Amino acid sequence: MNQQNKTPSSQQVDALIVGAGFAGLYMLHLLRDKLGLKVATIESASGVGGTWYWNNYPGARCDIASHHYSFSFSKELQQEWVWSEKYAAQDEILRYLEYVAKRFDLSKDIQFNCRVKSAAFDESSDRWLVTTDRGERYSAKYFIPAVGTLSSANIPVFKDQESFQGDTYFTGNWPNEGVDFKGKRVAIIGTGATAIQVIPEVAKQAAHLTVFQRTPNYAAPLQNEVLTEAEDQQLKANYDQLREASWNSFAGVPFPKLKGSALDDTQEQRLAHYEELWQDGGFSLWIGSYQDILYDKAANETLADFIRTKIRQRVHDPKIAEMLCPPKGQTYGTKRQPCETGYFETYNRDNVTLVDIKRSAIKEFTSTGLRTSDQHYEFDSLIYATGYDAFTGSLFKMDITGRGGLPLQSHWAKGARTYLGLSAAGFPNMFTITGPQSPSVLFNMPLAIEMHCEWIADCIAYINGRGLATIEAQATSEDDWLAETKQIADATLLPEASSWYMGANIPGKPRVFLVYLGGGQQYKEIIEKVAADDYSGFRLS
Ligand code: NAP
Repeated sequence: MNQQNKTPSSQQVDALIVGAGFAGLYMLHLLRDKLGLKVATIESASGVGGTWYWNNYPGARCDIASHHYSFSFSKELQQEWVWSEKYAAQDEILRYLEYVAKRFDLSKDIQFNCRVKSAAFDESSDRWLVTTDRGERYSAKYFIPAVGTLSSANIPVFKDQESFQGDTYFTGNWPNEGVDFKGKRVAIIGTGATAIQVIPEVAKQAAHLTVFQRTPNYAAPLQNEVLTEAEDQQLKANYDQLREASWNSFAGVPFPKLKGSALDDTQEQRLAHYEELWQDGGFSLWIGSYQDILYDKAANETLADFIRTKIRQRVHDPKIAEMLCPPKGQTYGTKRQPCETGYFETYNRDNVTLVDIKRSAIKEFTSTGLRTSDQHYEFDSLIYATGYDAFTGSLFKMDITGRGGLPLQSHWAKGARTYLGLSAAGFPNMFTITGPQSPSVLFNMPLAIEMHCEWIADCIAYINGRGLATIEAQATSEDDWLAETKQIADATLLPEASSWYMGANIPGKPRVFLVYLGGGQQYKEIIEKVAADDYSGFRLS
């Protein structure tokens, strides 16, 4: 290994990982314990958990079932951990990740409360020079951001925002000690997946809750339930089959098998099918209904209409129900379907007001609240549930520069582009776990992470084993992968939506589809073939 380094005070490591969520933890385990490498991990939080550390807002819960949303790499771990609910709440997932860190003795190699300030590829040494906000310098052969896809806050800008004198919260950076809203007038901006979890919980506590909604959402019930120990044991008894079915599925969870075209069934048959999936809960409706739901507008509208009917049945005031119903033309499922528990019924409460800010836009903030084009709203506390600068936000914050000092921002000026979601041309030995143009968020995340971490560890073993210095995506491979990802996405209705999958939620962000939509199973075959073909599409030196 090349130990040359221009900054003698740097700590020399084989790999530097950023982040200690699911991805960082498993990457550290593989590189340190399987490959025997010297690894440093940098984490900005004071503990492990990543997304599940930061998102401890009221109601935070996973919408993938617990027995799937967990690591599969250790059969012992799978058997030891007992899940108490079908869909685990944030605190249970955090406890699980803390347990993982302890069980595999990971924390001793994680530097907490520390941020990467810059990461620059040094062509003279073929190493990454990384600096942190605590003044440390690292020299690493491999640089592995494991920073999550949804970790950089999107806080919209409003006129006189800073004049508001009350408390302000962002769901993705919730105070560890929690917030007591008892007796408070609370406002929330946003009605996406996060807000749909927060709103029912805050409404139960607050004196009054005002919800500022720009776009209504097609949410479906989560149908969470408590798991008995016997049920947990029963699921674990079949873990091998469960995991095999997941790996061989489109989304990393064996959802119900899709029927053919929605338009081939009668209205009665369709409604019966939708009702069954609605009762099944979670993403069954989204991923498991008909093959053409996400491809054909007429098919899509049948399901959109089914959900509108459900909303109207659940919300007592017809005017409020209409505000909550996404209008015709807003396709279902082209944004990630939020899963809800009592969300729509929350609007039947006397202490909840829904404000349509598409009709009457937010004009300005004041010291006591905000003013829309219609009226002034007063509140004591404001919650932003306004989402994330997905995929690229957290990478850009680290000031990453590749060959020739090229900033990643410049390389991605027209939108993120990668080869396989793992590597960017001009950024040798840098691997993005669940990066742009990989299945990532449209595959069961812990398994998507395992798939990537294992591929990266194998790749590093290959490079080190042959005494090579670098591996780097070829520019043409990047072009081809971007084109393939686009072609697959363009066949669906998804790119038309103003979603974070397209970067469309961030003003000025280039619109590029950021997820590989060919399915995790197909993707896994592709990356395994690339590895088997001696890393075809990469340049090795
Ligand atoms: P999001 O889906 O991007 O929703 C953000 C919300 O804020 C939307 O309602 C959006 O309105 C609104 N908003 C953004 N900018 C605004 C502005 N300038 N003015 C007014 N409203 C504005 O973010 P999210 O709800 O945090 O969810 C992001 C993702 O996190 C989800 O899709 C999901 O993948 C993940 N998540 C998962 C879980 C889970 O596992 N259970 C839970 C929560 C989140 P528009 O729609 O009009 O843009």
